[in-house]
Amino acid sequence: MKITDIKALRLRTPLPPEGQYRSRSGLRTFRSTVLVQVETDEGIVGFGSCSGNEAVVEAIIVRALKPILIGKDPLQIQELWEMGYVGTGIGEYGSQAIGVVALSGVDIALWDILGKAQNIPVYKLLGERSRERVQVYATALYPEETAEVVKKALAFVEKGFRSIKIKVGFDLAKDIEIVKVVREVVGEDFTLMADANMGYGIEAALKAAAVLEECRVAWFEEPLFVGDIEGHAFLKSRSQVPIALGENLHTTLAFEQFILRRAIDVLQPDVARAGGISQVRKVAGLAVAHGLPISLHTWGDAVALAASLHLAAALENSAIMELDCTSNPLRTELLKEPLEAQNGFMLPPQGAGLGIDLNTDTLKKYAFSGSERVLLPYPKLLCRSDSRS
Ligand code: MG
Repeated sequence: MKITDIKALRLRTPLPPEGQYRSRSGLRTFRSTVLVQVETDEGIVGFGSCSGNEAVVEAIIVRALKPILIGKDPLQIQELWEMGYVGTGIGEYGSQAIGVVALSGVDIALWDILGKAQNIPVYKLLGERSRERVQVYATALYPEETAEVVKKALAFVEKGFRSIKIKVGFDLAKDIEIVKVVREVVGEDFTLMADANMGYGIEAALKAAAVLEECRVAWFEEPLFVGDIEGHAFLKSRSQVPIALGENLHTTLAFEQFILRRAIDVLQPDVARAGGISQVRKVAGLAVAHGLPISLHTWGDAVALAASLHLAAALENSAIMELDCTSNPLRTELLKEPLEAQNGFMLPPQGAGLGIDLNTDTLKKYAFSGSERVLLPYPKLLCRSDSRS
């Protein structure tokens, strides 16, 4: 089998006012993604997903990865990954980030092709299922009036979820108030996580960690700027609440740095960012070696969600997985059979490869070829001047 074409499909959809939410990077008024379509001379087509700056990712796929992968055997995934990483210069001198995001989408599509060629689902390629079903937590609580947050939290309890993540990292006093109130209304027999999306400096993170521990929060996610490994190690040494991160780390090399410097408790690789199924599998192996759990980060679209479900079902140390529960047509309208949670659990699709069938009307409806990119307010990144003594 040979690769005959690789396409990058940019998708973008505006969100209705009731579906918009305030994240660390400002009011989110749209959702966007890049799907990768790898075609072969045997008629098998694989799909993947990339979560990163769409214009840059598209250029890397079309101009750097496609020219070297055309004509190659798509079933030689490891060889093609290395060819893409080293041969294009993406991984030259160990560099990471956006090139790896583009490679992630290609890698997922190759696994989809391999599964389709063998007529088995991807989770079986990864070594059968370690669990019957995948437990997911809802990412849904963003900052707004406390009464609104409580209302939303109770709605997820009503839907059968047993775990919810609360977004913090905005105003410390307000963040604390929301976490305390949500803990009170959902009761003790319920899992809460808190995610700062790099929003705190070390002083605020230390104060937040103490309250999160008091509120029995399962983990404190991305408390500090992701480049500040020492800061995370310091925070971890001074607090009891587990530190989780990884959605902004690319390849096992980056995770290893955090593990070796004792700066992480829960690894959260994202299959559409960290290097695809091939790299997440290796990150999981690294976590096993160090006795740490992984909790897959998912965002973006339904293709990434499907790939994550296959991984979460198969990997032995995969703990609860994230489920984006915000309004997102790229999750709910992209597949002919949408992937949905039942009482806080999900199943990987059972068909060959990723087991998904894309809705072509949705692809046409949300196709995007523009060049504009909204400049979002960025978080305060450097906080090294903060006291750590
Ligand atoms: Mg997060």
